[in-house]
Amino acid sequence: MLASKSKRWFKKALVRSNILRAASRLFAPSAVILSYHSIVEDPRVTDPILGISRDRASFEAHMQTLARNFSPVTVEDVAQFAKSGRKLPPRAVAVTFDDGFADNCEVALPILRRYGVPATFYIMVDAVENGILPWYCRLRFAFNTTKKPEWRKLDGNATENRSYSLGSPEQRKAALTAAWEVGARLTGSVQQEFIAQVEKQLEVEAAGSPDYAPHGFMMTWEQVRALKKAGHTIGAHTLSHPNVAQVSQDEARSEIAGSKQRLEAEIGAPVDHFSYPHPALNPQWSQQTLEITREAGFKSAALTTCGPVRAGDEPLALKRIYTPADLNQFTWNLQCTFLGRSV
Ligand SMILES: [Zn+2]
Repeated sequence: MLASKSKRWFKKALVRSNILRAASRLFAPSAVILSYHSIVEDPRVTDPILGISRDRASFEAHMQTLARNFSPVTVEDVAQFAKSGRKLPPRAVAVTFDDGFADNCEVALPILRRYGVPATFYIMVDAVENGILPWYCRLRFAFNTTKKPEWRKLDGNATENRSYSLGSPEQRKAALTAAWEVGARLTGSVQQEFIAQVEKQLEVEAAGSPDYAPHGFMMTWEQVRALKKAGHTIGAHTLSHPNVAQVSQDEARSEIAGSKQRLEAEIGAPVDHFSYPHPALNPQWSQQTLEITREAGFKSAALTTCGPVRAGDEPLALKRIYTPADLNQFTWNLQCTFLGRSV
């Protein structure tokens, strides 16, 4: 206990002392891409469904820190820096959001405007098109709320069918992970059938039903267009959010190139940037998927792998970093990444 307390104090003192900021000048220039999903008032309300939300106050503190102590840039700037070494301001940071949650417009957008921070929103097309939650959120909700004592995994392969007890939180987590691993290999209507089958097995309401979420969790196309009009970047995040390295090449192509085309038709402008969904399983990308993003015409693709971006890095495999709510930890992670340390 004492050790972790003094470690926290030490981190805080280092962050405040500006030693890390000065040290970062000694290293080769780099940029950092931050990864967010959902921003809400109180994540405790949405955690059983989304599980990936940050609270509004923490997000505001993050953006204030970026505006004061770092240089907010766009993903396009970072991609150009990676590709051709184009100069960036010192301590350049790009902000990104995955999936297309409506709270990005309702909660995050006014804060981005207040601090003059540009952002990129990677949109999962089917979720916006149909106003439904990403399938991995529906599964989280189903396993978090079911009253059933067990779940029988049926994934079409009789040798892999097995039962999962749902008695303890750990057992529910293991069952959810097993279900995510099935869903990550599926796309489109097959994926939707699998999710509906699990909801039926677990006897739960679909999490995106009007009773549960009267305003809907996902952006509308009007909101996507409004983000673009406000000067932000719209990127693609596939159609149905599979792990594209775990599906057939044809499916990967249709998910990657198809999401670009659908978004371009909706916003009436080129969509040059992509982020890889990572619902479950590793790896999340491969040399083949990289070629598919290149053929589709993307200028950059972002990963969930943590680390800085350096000149000469592959723009179609850009690392990002996670964004802990705690401001001190957030700043620590950023500064360590600029120093080349993984966090
Ligand atoms: Zn995603």
